[in-house]
Amino acid sequence: MLSEWIEGGFFVRQSSLFLPTLREVPSEAEIASHQLMARAGFIRQLVSGVYSYLPLGHRVLRKVKQITREEMDAAGGQEISMPAIQPSELWRETGRWEAYGPELMRLRDRHDREFVLGPTHEEVVTSLARDGIRSYKRLPMNLYQIQTKYRDEVRPRFGVIRAREFIMKDAYSFDLDQEGLDRSYEAMYNAYQRIFTRCGLDFRAVEADAGAIGGKGSHEFMALSEIGEDTIAYCESCNYAANIEKAEVVYRGQAPATEEVAKAEKIHTPAIRTIDQLAEFLDVPATQTIKSLLFKADDQFVLTLVRGDHELNDIKLKNMLDANVVELASEQDVEETLGVPTGFVGPQVSQGRNVKVVADVAVQHIVNGIVGANEIDYHFKNVTPGKDFEVEQYADLRDIEEGDPCPQCGGTIHFARGIEVGHVFKLGTTYSEQMKATFLDEQGKAKPMIMGCYGIGISRTVAAAVEQNHDEHGIIWPVAIAPFHVHIIAVNVKNADQEQVAESLYEQCLAAGFETLLDDRSERAGVKFNDADLIGIPLRITVGGKAKDGIVECKLRKSGEVVEIAQDEVVSYIK
Ligand code: ATP
Ligand code: MG
Ligand code: MG
Ligand code: MG
Repeated sequence: MLSEWIEGGFFVRQSSLFLPTLREVPSEAEIASHQLMARAGFIRQLVSGVYSYLPLGHRVLRKVKQITREEMDAAGGQEISMPAIQPSELWRETGRWEAYGPELMRLRDRHDREFVLGPTHEEVVTSLARDGIRSYKRLPMNLYQIQTKYRDEVRPRFGVIRAREFIMKDAYSFDLDQEGLDRSYEAMYNAYQRIFTRCGLDFRAVEADAGAIGGKGSHEFMALSEIGEDTIAYCESCNYAANIEKAEVVYRGQAPATEEVAKAEKIHTPAIRTIDQLAEFLDVPATQTIKSLLFKADDQFVLTLVRGDHELNDIKLKNMLDANVVELASEQDVEETLGVPTGFVGPQVSQGRNVKVVADVAVQHIVNGIVGANEIDYHFKNVTPGKDFEVEQYADLRDIEEGDPCPQCGGTIHFARGIEVGHVFKLGTTYSEQMKATFLDEQGKAKPMIMGCYGIGISRTVAAAVEQNHDEHGIIWPVAIAPFHVHIIAVNVKNADQEQVAESLYEQCLAAGFETLLDDRSERAGVKFNDADLIGIPLRITVGGKAKDGIVECKLRKSGEVVEIAQDEVVSYIK
């Protein structure tokens, strides 16, 4: 029968729909989207940070996936599906088995072999490219998937915004040269603009630091929201917008130094205790190490201090810092001069808030990103203090502030909060070199493929949309990702006129291609209206007392605008 099918597939009427709405807000739900998605029966928590998507939630998820898929395909992506279970050997090849830290979900099989549940897929996709791409003729290539990811977040919260199991679209590009990567990156950047626009988000692309994954060039797509965990610095006078970590670096005039650092970050576990090790870490001759960094850092670099347990060797440090050094005779000196506890201090080239840069005279520069892992020779990257761990001891350090001058035009910097829904990275050859994913160029010479990676938090996007689109009564879905377009409510299903008009409208709407939910439950009208507001389908059609005259009421969820219409005009009204 016609009414059993819609574009999106088979569905049921509301009387048989699995829609366990809640009266009470779950106690752990701090923000509106989490409360509403749980109350309205879109999601159910199984255990901290792990959720089921119930029929309505699943439909929304499917829409976001579909939009993403269409735009990825249009941008030249090829969809694949990679395993969630990945062998530790692959992660050891890139050093991330150690470097990724406790966010990595590890497990063993019956033979005691170690595995991870993938938090991301650079290793797997690079191994595919290594095996499957031999010649420059195969490049460029863009592979993507929409898949479940696992991250043992230190603080799962905000429902599916920060979950431990979540759905991501991750894409990876392979190019033969830098210009190719630039083109691939731009294609993804533009696809992301279209995806988030189509999903109805109020968002902004901001410059970001290439963090944990390494590499150069990165943007984050931020859904603007007060509850966002990220801070965006933007300028009203020009188009400048960056996440605060990146803004910090640019603001300090140290962008070139961070380029250098980004290069250095390819090595995940350096034991840097001497200038030679530092030179090796930075891949520059020892004598030039400090000079070039000093030059690039506008004479402001040079020491970053991180939480970690590198031993500080003051003499080496002094050598490194050459003439422009603060005298640091002992660890105690360091502690006093820099105001950080000894035992947590180590010389390391880095970038990051919670990290202090010693200028030639003073200690006043804080940047962001790398922290020690409290494990010898290991560091975590792309860490945001406060979000990822507690750092009270750095609380007095100065950050970029609202009102500071814009680094691009000198205008005024403002702050906003954002939810990171997408992230694009130029990886370069970090992974292809480590994993020996090479291709033969036209001259028959083996070269590492140049990679980019591009993620969208599909499930997080759904929650961000709710965060931006709700009122005190419930969700207000953007049409493109709404679980249904039309919600027909028969006020009294026992009334023959109403029942018959509702059924007829249902058929008409479905025939016209509108995804329609029929509330055929024998509930009180008030209950039905409240549920409808909570669920948030864009258009509600109420079939009530005037049904006997063929008149129904159409109400837009968003504006509350109501019109009475003859039942046979409903379809053309909607169109
Ligand atoms: P965050 O800074 O919020 O921890 P991330 O930078 O670690 O995110 P990426 O590695 O860039 O995340 O992953 C790509 C996308 O996956 C992110 O932009 C985000 O939309 C989504 N994502 C990351 N972590 C989670 C999570 N725990 N729950 C839901 N979505 C997530
Ligand atoms: Mg993260
Ligand atoms: Mg991030
Ligand atoms: Mg990110």
